[in-house]
Amino acid sequence: MGKSIFITATDTGVGKTIISCAIGLALKKKGIDAGYMKPFQCSGNDTDFAVKVLGIKDDKKLVNPYYAKAPLAPYVAFKRAKAKIDLEKIFFAYNELKKRHEFLIVEGAGGLLVPLMESYVVADLIRDLDIPALIVARAGLGTLNHTLLTQRYAFDYGLKVKGVIINGYTGKDIAEKTNPDILKEFLEVPLLGVLPYVKDVQSKKGLRTLVKKVEENIDLDALLQEEKSPTKKLVVEDKKYVWHPFTQMKDWLEGEPLIIEEAKGSYLKDSDGRWYLDGVSSLWVNVHGHRKKEIDISVARQLSKVAHSTLLGLGNIPSIELAREIIKIAPKGLAKVFYSDNGSTAVEIALKMAYQYWQHRNTAKTKFIHLENAYHGDTVGSVSVGGIDLFHKAYKGLLFDSYAIDSPYCYRCPKKKIYPLCGRECLGGLKEILECDHSSIAALIVEPLVQAASGMLVWPDGIYKEMSELCKKYNVLLIADEVAVGMGRTGSMFASDLEGVTPDILCVAKGITGGYLPLAATLTTQNIFDGFLGEYKGQKTFFHGHTYTGNPLACAAARANLELFKKEKTLEKLKPKIQFLKKGLEGFMELKHVGDIRQKGFMVGIELVKDKRTKEQYGWEEKVGIRVCQKAREYGVILRPLGNVIVLMPPLSISQEELKQLLDAAYKAIRTVTSYS
Ligand SMILES: *Cc1c(COP(=O)(O)O)cnc(C)c1O
Repeated sequence: MGKSIFITATDTGVGKTIISCAIGLALKKKGIDAGYMKPFQCSGNDTDFAVKVLGIKDDKKLVNPYYAKAPLAPYVAFKRAKAKIDLEKIFFAYNELKKRHEFLIVEGAGGLLVPLMESYVVADLIRDLDIPALIVARAGLGTLNHTLLTQRYAFDYGLKVKGVIINGYTGKDIAEKTNPDILKEFLEVPLLGVLPYVKDVQSKKGLRTLVKKVEENIDLDALLQEEKSPTKKLVVEDKKYVWHPFTQMKDWLEGEPLIIEEAKGSYLKDSDGRWYLDGVSSLWVNVHGHRKKEIDISVARQLSKVAHSTLLGLGNIPSIELAREIIKIAPKGLAKVFYSDNGSTAVEIALKMAYQYWQHRNTAKTKFIHLENAYHGDTVGSVSVGGIDLFHKAYKGLLFDSYAIDSPYCYRCPKKKIYPLCGRECLGGLKEILECDHSSIAALIVEPLVQAASGMLVWPDGIYKEMSELCKKYNVLLIADEVAVGMGRTGSMFASDLEGVTPDILCVAKGITGGYLPLAATLTTQNIFDGFLGEYKGQKTFFHGHTYTGNPLACAAARANLELFKKEKTLEKLKPKIQFLKKGLEGFMELKHVGDIRQKGFMVGIELVKDKRTKEQYGWEEKVGIRVCQKAREYGVILRPLGNVIVLMPPLSISQEELKQLLDAAYKAIRTVTSYS
């Protein structure tokens, strides 16, 4: 796969074509095979000229997929010609030509904001193709403004810019003479060269002169160079300074860590330039893919207003708009939004809210019920209602007591053989506790439908609904921790929707900003909110708040994230992909060490066992989950296991083709690693 550059300009008629040709020829003289592509051409013969001069042999349909006769902006020209534009055709041609040539020169149309299609300008095409841009600028008066505007816009739009070339320099007037130095001073990218004006440039002789000038004046190596981060140095410094979460640092210090440098769509790129499919949505947070235009722009726009202002005593616009929009889509009955920064704090807030609420109601309800295998975060309160021994036992002395009830872990349910009504039996403990002690119980906290962190334990249908009815019956609050299952993960916006449950308190975090920024929200009902109202001196205030509560940048990202669900019909498009995933997983069952496959929407856990018949587990020292994920990395997919459970949690925006890549890599990795054990 070759490298590529997108030649754009500060305006039309600045000399993009001729510079594309001259650069191509100069590269050829260096022994580098340069290809050429012009996705859109409106009138003129740029493509023919370039094809002839550069000796291009590729099919014209690839070199110039779209041609219109009228000398207009492509959007206007193709609309008038009633021609439909299919971007896929352009992406296909681009990828094809990139494969064939060492270096591909893609020429734009006019400048960055020239419309190509409805709501689609040249900058969008550069973004989608993910090519670095080269800006061609005029030499004379006016170029400072045009060039700096182009650069600023490119940056704000998230484009990479290799540099600027000034074309047609005569040195006749004072503006031309002073412009290069001023540009060097004001540009944030290099001025890669100044090309003198060449007479009759379309003639053989003229072009030859221009190529010579390119060789003399343009830093071609800078164009060819792929910026690579110094991986070795980064790794050394990471190991020297950074302590990673949930990581045995001894292993880390002995290992070869990947350093992620950038991302696009469903893929992450490491500091050596390798791309990997993000198979766990950057730990369950990413929704619409990385570098999603709408979210990028929303954050950038907010950045131009205010990055942070406090919610303690003041309001801010994105937090108001987001709260309104979340309440619109939340289970009916939830009316208020309390912000924080992460899932653990969202849960911490839920617990304190429930606890204090009952004090204001003059009851003695002070205890909580949680589930075995529950995970609600890592702060001390959240750990107290957690049920994963491994994560929690070290901190036992710090925790408050809480009732634990069975978790619907059907694969390892000891009662399964005895009780035909499996699932419902899990609620026996809950019923008993509520019957005996409901007057001292403040709330039941659950991860509805899927207990994620303990290995994607999917509940049988109906249990959650029954829990909610029991809570109502005994006047106990229901806290739904939808940090993992919320924001579309189960195929529905909230898991609670799937069983028609409105919890008293609902926690969202992970996917709320589309995977962009830390933000969480604890939603509750008018009734609970009202319980905190009173005179100032009565001290019924909810005494909780984090410094960055309701951060405007994070709320702006979340707003755009919710908007995208509507605009892109994310949940609708998810349905066939969930089915595709389900179908793809069927084949895994034939693997010798796959014990159980659990799926709810876009959450998948594949439990590996040493012995399928006895369900014997792999020992810790075998690190089987870790080894499978390491193997998957060799196949270009990033995964992160939960013990012996392999997790698949791709971004909701993943394509079917990418899903196939994910399934194939996971299958091969499991087969390879477990066939020796
Ligand atoms: C991840 C998670 C949390 C904790 O969220 P953080 O943002 O990591 O603090 C809480 N509850 C559930 C269900 C989670 O999956």
